[in-house]
Amino acid sequence: MSNLFQLPPRPSVPLEGEEARFPVGRIFCVARNYEAHAREMGFSADRDAPFYFTKTPSAICHSGETIPYPPGTANCHYEMELVVAIGTPAFGISVAQAMSVVLGYACGFDMTRRDLQNAARDQGRPWDTGKDFENAAVIAPLTRVEAFGAVGDQRITLTQNGELKQDAHLRDLIWSVPELISDLSRYYHLAPGDLLYTGTPAGVGPIAPGDRLVGAIDGLTPVELQIGPAE
Ligand code: MN
Repeated sequence: MSNLFQLPPRPSVPLEGEEARFPVGRIFCVARNYEAHAREMGFSADRDAPFYFTKTPSAICHSGETIPYPPGTANCHYEMELVVAIGTPAFGISVAQAMSVVLGYACGFDMTRRDLQNAARDQGRPWDTGKDFENAAVIAPLTRVEAFGAVGDQRITLTQNGELKQDAHLRDLIWSVPELISDLSRYYHLAPGDLLYTGTPAGVGPIAPGDRLVGAIDGLTPVELQIGPAE
């Protein structure tokens, strides 16, 4: 049996200091996982169950690239996030077991067409056009969990053209990494290759052509993005 045509190969993410790359399976994202960001979006952060949205793997964009200003939006935002890479199958695992399936971490941007997301939200419609679009899942090279250590006091920041816009600590996550993995594994058979964007701190804002974004987390390789003119 043959296919009518070839699809592009799956995107993959480099690992610091290694030749083999991490092929991307699915991309899960958590909404409103820092209290100050939930408030800036007009919600209270009351530990209701976490909720998720997804991006397709074709949304992956590698750190260091220049992308056109995204189409269909007049209000595209950056969101700087800790990205978790899953390295082991997991289904219905406990919080205590959850860290054993983490392969590593990366810095990433959850790019968001905020105007489309907010309009969809207000009409009770899905967020897909606001969240899942080309170059919307920006990611830096991964660092293995053994080299990074425990998630906690690391600072997470984003600068836009050198100006500090987001500044928080990973301990500010409402739902911790093991809590998120345990919860997500109740709904999906998590598998090697899956990525989880863990939510953004306060300070999100619009991008413009010519912008340079740099996102950093202590102990990880920074993620960088240059915004070009619209196509
Ligand atoms: Mn986000």
